[in-house]
Amino acid sequence: MTAQIIDGNAVAKQLRTEVAQRTAALKTKGITPGLAVILVGEDPASKVYVGKKVQACEEAGLHSVLERYEADLTEAALLARVEALNQDPSIHGILVQLPLPAHIDAHKVIESISPAKDVDGFHVASAGALMTGTPGFWSCTPYGCIKLLESTGMDLRGKHAVVIGRSNNVGKPMALMLLQKNATVTICHSATQNLKAHTLQADVIVAAVGRRDTLTADMVKPGAVVIDVGMNRNDQGKLCGDVDFANVKEVAGWITPVPGGVGPMTVTMLLVNTLEAAERLVA
Ligand code: NAP
Repeated sequence: MTAQIIDGNAVAKQLRTEVAQRTAALKTKGITPGLAVILVGEDPASKVYVGKKVQACEEAGLHSVLERYEADLTEAALLARVEALNQDPSIHGILVQLPLPAHIDAHKVIESISPAKDVDGFHVASAGALMTGTPGFWSCTPYGCIKLLESTGMDLRGKHAVVIGRSNNVGKPMALMLLQKNATVTICHSATQNLKAHTLQADVIVAAVGRRDTLTADMVKPGAVVIDVGMNRNDQGKLCGDVDFANVKEVAGWITPVPGGVGPMTVTMLLVNTLEAAERLVA
C-alpha cells in the first residue's frame, strides 16, 4: 500500500480562503479582526515565525501589529504592553512569541493575556476550556492536526488514536481534542515502555516528539493515518519530521509530509482563532 498524502498546503489554502471571506463579511459590520504579535529579542527562528504570522494576516485581510522589543525588555514592561493590548478594541488576538528571554517568566506573561484574546490557546483558561469541552481557543498546532485528519474524510469516533508526546503545547491538547472527537486515546511519552506495541494498535498516530525516525514502518498498522508534527533536521540539514516518511508511507493509509503537512496549518489556525475572537463580538 502507498499512503495518500495529506497536503497541508492545500488544506491551509482552503481554510485561509474561508478566513478571508468571513473577514470580509465581518468588515461590513464594522469589525476588522486584529492580531497583535509581540517578539522580544533576536531569536532567528522566532523572527521567521512572527513574519509569517503577520504576512498571513495581511493576505487574509486581517489587521496585524508586530511589536518588537530588545532582549533586555523588563518583565514589567512586557506585562504592561500585554495589558494595553488587552484593553485595545482593535486587537482581538494577542500572541507573545515564545521562547522569551530567561529573565521573563513566560507563564506569567501568557497568563496576563485576556482569555478572550488568547488565540494561541496557551492560557490556563484555554487549556481548561479544552479539557471541559467549553468554548475557548484550541491551540493552533494540534487544532491544525484535527483539520488535517478531518480533511481525509475519516470519522474519528471510536478510532484508536495514539499520540506520541505529552507537551503542553502539542501532545496533551492533541490528545484532548481527539478525545473530544470521540476517539479512544493513548498518550505515549519518554517513559512509555514498548512504544511499538501501542502504535501498532493505532488507527491514527500523531507523532510530536522532536526526534527523527521515532516512528518507523514496522510500528504502523497497515492503513493507519499518520500525522507528523516533528520538525527536525536530517544529516543533510534538510527539514524532516519524527516519522520515517519514505518507509512509513508504504504502510500507512494517509500521511502528512514534512515540510508541507502540519507546518502550514499552525499559522492558519491562528488566523481562524483571531477571526473567531472577533466574530464572537457580534455573535
Ligand atoms: P517537547 O516539549 O520537547 O515534547 C516532546 C515530547 O516527546 C515529550 O512529551 C517527551 O516525553 C516525548 N518523547 C521524547 N522522547 C520520546 C521517545 N523516545 N518516545 C516517546 N516519547 C518521547 O516538544 P513539542 O513542543 O511537543 O514539539 C514536538 C515536535 O513538534 C518538535 O519537533 C517541534 O519542533 C515540533 N513542533 C512543530 C510545530 C509545527 O507547527 N509544525 C509546532 C510545535 C512543535 P516526556 O514528556 O516524557 O519528556
